[in-house]
Amino acid sequence: MNRPDDAVRFLYHPGDILLKDDSGLLCRTCWRAALGWLGVEQPENSCARCGIPLEHSHSLHLRRTGDEGGWQLCPEDAVAFLNQLRTVEPKLTVETLSLAGDWRLAGGSGVSPGETES
Ligand SMILES: [Zn+2]
Repeated sequence: MNRPDDAVRFLYHPGDILLKDDSGLLCRTCWRAALGWLGVEQPENSCARCGIPLEHSHSLHLRRTGDEGGWQLCPEDAVAFLNQLRTVEPKLTVETLSLAGDWRLAGGSGVSPGETES
């Protein structure tokens, strides 16, 4: 990707803004495809894909960098979205996706989705 002007930056976090990953990057074509997938609606506290009600800390939050609004995704759809990103390796499953709310319940640690060791 040589022309940053053609790229769209976005950030996402698992229900806690402190854990955000703002390294999301898609070319415009892929971003448009993602928008088609997410939809133009940005419902609050429900999944942008399947519409089920979500709690803040039990959903993935996704936002174009610099934009006010964003989307929330349930774990299933969050995994589906993140696995489309080249930077997400290894690919996630619903079991390996950890959301802020899950950590509090489990009291354990987690790796934020998209965190890479490259
Ligand atoms: Zn969903």
